[in-house]
Amino acid sequence: MGRTLQLHRFSVFMEKGVSLERALEIAGGLSMERNSEHLPLDMATGRILFEDIISRVDDPRFDNSAMDGWAVREADCKEPGAVLRVVGTSQAGSTDVPHVREGEACSIMTGAPVPEGADAIVMVEDSTTEGNTVTINGPARPGYIRRRGENLTEGESPLKSGSLLTPSAISLCATMGHDSLPVVRKPSIAVIGVGDELTPPGEPLSKNSIYESNTFGISSLVKKMGCIPQRSDLIRDNIDDLREALDEAAETCDAIITSGGVSMGKWDLVRQIMEEEGQISFWRIMMRPGGPPLFGSWKGTPIFGLPGNPVSSHVVFTVLVAPWISQSMGSDENLGSRMANRVRVTMQEPLRGAPGKLCMRRISIRQEGESLVASTSTHQGSGNIHSMVAHNGLSLLPPDTDCETGETIDALWLC
Ligand code: AMP
Ligand code: MG
Repeated sequence: MGRTLQLHRFSVFMEKGVSLERALEIAGGLSMERNSEHLPLDMATGRILFEDIISRVDDPRFDNSAMDGWAVREADCKEPGAVLRVVGTSQAGSTDVPHVREGEACSIMTGAPVPEGADAIVMVEDSTTEGNTVTINGPARPGYIRRRGENLTEGESPLKSGSLLTPSAISLCATMGHDSLPVVRKPSIAVIGVGDELTPPGEPLSKNSIYESNTFGISSLVKKMGCIPQRSDLIRDNIDDLREALDEAAETCDAIITSGGVSMGKWDLVRQIMEEEGQISFWRIMMRPGGPPLFGSWKGTPIFGLPGNPVSSHVVFTVLVAPWISQSMGSDENLGSRMANRVRVTMQEPLRGAPGKLCMRRISIRQEGESLVASTSTHQGSGNIHSMVAHNGLSLLPPDTDCETGETIDALWLC
């Protein structure tokens, strides 16, 4: 005792029955490696930026018009009905733009360079032309000029490492002159389903077997978090097969997720093999659903043992594995990827909490007037995956707390 592995705050000693906060803290002590790759801009949507991106240009690059209209001197247009001499046109992309002097106007298009001498724009709707003159019937506004560098200046870094590359972020990168980007390489995550009763969907079911769903659901969650799932063949409740699968996963993947076999049962072999041959840093979280998970390492590779109940595995992924993946990938807390937003909701019916445990009931959240309200509809059993489809949120009822109709509680609104 008294020896601690050198992996940050990752302890070799197992903690049992931890809070979700503690589970996140412990898991956060053992990360996946963060590597980069360069991608062409049009392949980078949905990825996480590996480093800060610096603008190669001022934005706008030059003073230009925000309107189709006339570039003028504001002083010439003080009186309504001013008549100005037209000296030419500035189009978007023009290189040869006339000067505007006293008593003159230059026709100008949106995005076109503002002629030297002009300091305001009149909208085309506020003018009438006749021959070589234009009559100004409305205001001449300096505010219709988009100034050089008013959005961004060259060398500035408006997009930080860890940001999710949304469509707007992609557009911003192009605006700044980047045709490719350094992004976080997608980690590979092994997804292993364990259980004698499981049959892959599509295959004939034998007596008392069920269709396996978790490896599909978890792989889908892994994909949604921007990683590559490696879904293996189902493992029977057999310790040698399980060991082989874990060894292969540790060799080929950045992390491992198992489903099933982590509870107290005789055939809960994931827990058993991890206790005997792996490294468990915590087992069981004080939450419902999703109480039995474990976290640790198998031959140096981080491993999450998720419960077999389908709702439990999805919920544990959402509140534990997803934040861990985000942190490992260096995803920014506010600008990076996530699976849920924390909100306050007013319950339209009572909710029963759980003794000693954080209670995450499935709830349907919707906007009603100024506030978010929530209700429940289906059976809440942790085996009922339909309850995750029929709802879009999870309550965050603190341990030993019930909620009455009309009470406002914390919740997760799933993305
Ligand atoms: P376990 O965690 O192995 O004790 O399993 C708990 C419950 O989840 C049992 O009802 C299992 O049949 C079910 N289960 C376990 N693994 C899966 C899976 N991959 N897909 C669907 N249900 C599962
Ligand atoms: Mg089982």
